[in-house]
Amino acid sequence: MRAFITGITGQDGAYLSKLLLDKGYEVFGLVRRSSTAEVNDVRLRWLGVADRVNLIDGDLTDLSCLIRCMREIKPDEVYNLAAQSFVKSSWHQPLLTGTVTGLGAGNILEAVRLERPEARFYQASSSEMYGLIQEEKQSERTPFYPRSPYAVAKLYAHWMTVNYRESFGLFACSGILFNHESPLRGIEFVTRKITDGVARIKLGLAKDLALGNLEAKRDWGHARDYVEAMWLMLQQETPDDYVVATGRTVTVREFCRLAFAHVGLDYQEFVRVDPAFMRPAEVEVLLGDPAKATAKLGWTASTTLEEMTAEMVEADLARHRRATRD
Ligand code: NAP
Ligand code: GDP
Repeated sequence: MRAFITGITGQDGAYLSKLLLDKGYEVFGLVRRSSTAEVNDVRLRWLGVADRVNLIDGDLTDLSCLIRCMREIKPDEVYNLAAQSFVKSSWHQPLLTGTVTGLGAGNILEAVRLERPEARFYQASSSEMYGLIQEEKQSERTPFYPRSPYAVAKLYAHWMTVNYRESFGLFACSGILFNHESPLRGIEFVTRKITDGVARIKLGLAKDLALGNLEAKRDWGHARDYVEAMWLMLQQETPDDYVVATGRTVTVREFCRLAFAHVGLDYQEFVRVDPAFMRPAEVEVLLGDPAKATAKLGWTASTTLEEMTAEMVEADLARHRRATRD
């Protein structure tokens, strides 16, 4: 089996690569050109799979290169994980976010439709699409109410996926994934920012940690568990859309408490609120209902929030210890 992953250098791309390689897939990934090519496979190296994936030069905004990828690779499965994925940046770069996160999904769907219609397609949709939540617990039936340019772009990509399934009979699935984290999460996201801050403070490299809204609630799971759900969606008899979540939601404040407590510190002595990290429109709470994924895919989140927080803090402690030693 051959898989093609856009966004292979990101958090999920790295975990998905490892999962597919372990299952015997040949893995191909799209990598955009940058002036620092030596660091763009850092996550793949962290998981020990950089030498086992085939990286292809290209960009999600360039339909011609996606067509070339389909022709050359002839993938059985296509996972569209590439995006401008940081909500806060989407207010600073709304049109770029629309172009990459929204229209980019249209490009890859077109490339699949034109060149490889038999391939199974996965779209990385997001719980951010629920935004101003319309139901206390969000399922596949909950109406969407996006609250950021990122979420608006993801909604376009989601409906294009549904539409290409209904219009052209593509095996196209949209996974509505709630926040998922890991030691490979981008440093700008709140969980990783906190675990990195905890490590710095513990090692005497920083004195405090500035955050925004501490009362926001998220349903946080582990990326390693969530990429398994992506794969499972493409192994079913019929394509469908699924919510992937833990079914538990906690505040940013509670995540701080857990992360600092892991190294024996009280977060209240170190965390300060800085309005610079507040958002123009906030998603106050997200809580997913993974009942359909459990019933149909046999999937459940296997890592607890406490286990994941401990793993992330330990990884950041090790990183900073290594960096100060070198
Ligand atoms: P991530 O770490 O930010 O990775 C994003 C990936 O997209 C990177 O490989 C990035 O490449 C690539 N990319 C960005 N612009 C591109 C372009 N124009 N052409 C080609 N590639 C481009 O994100 P993630 O956490 O792994 O998430 C994977 C996907 O799931 C994203 O679509 C995200 O929006 C979505 N999602 C994530 C979560 C979550 O909690 N993690 C939840 C729901 C949905 P560079 O390495 O060059 O930047
Ligand atoms: P998101 O759910 O995709 O936006 O993931 P983030 O990790 O970026 O943010 C999760 C929540 O944490 C949001 O409600 C943010 O407003 C909140 N938050 C509070 N302080 C911070 C911060 O310093 N950085 C980030 N990224 N988010 C913060």
